[in-house]
Amino acid sequence: MTYVIGETCIDVKDKSCVEVCPVDCIIGGDEDRMLFIDPAECIDCGACVDPCPVDAIYAEEDLPPEWAEYTEINREYFQDREAARAKVAVKEVPPPQLD
Ligand code: SF4
Ligand code: SF4
Repeated sequence: MTYVIGETCIDVKDKSCVEVCPVDCIIGGDEDRMLFIDPAECIDCGACVDPCPVDAIYAEEDLPPEWAEYTEINREYFQDREAARAKVAVKEVPPPQLD
């Protein structure tokens, strides 16, 4: 099991989750539109969920069905960064609704 970052992180990327992750497994560069959780490192603690201002983070089994592909996109980022970036690059998302 792992936690997964979904679509509402795109173009928000405020990194509130990064600050609380005890194993530093939430990664993303300046060139990325969102951040990604490394499923091989995530210890399923859930600490990153509440700090996210756009409710982007879910346990894998609770991920909204319309975001199903993000499980693979998060995983792929740590195996083929450019492939994951390409999938996110084409996403058209509404402007962020921050709390
Ligand atoms: S669930 Fe815990 S270990 Fe996994 S990404 Fe979130 S804060 Fe990090
Ligand atoms: S807290 Fe939410 S919006 Fe901010 S970087 Fe993490 S997943 Fe993205």
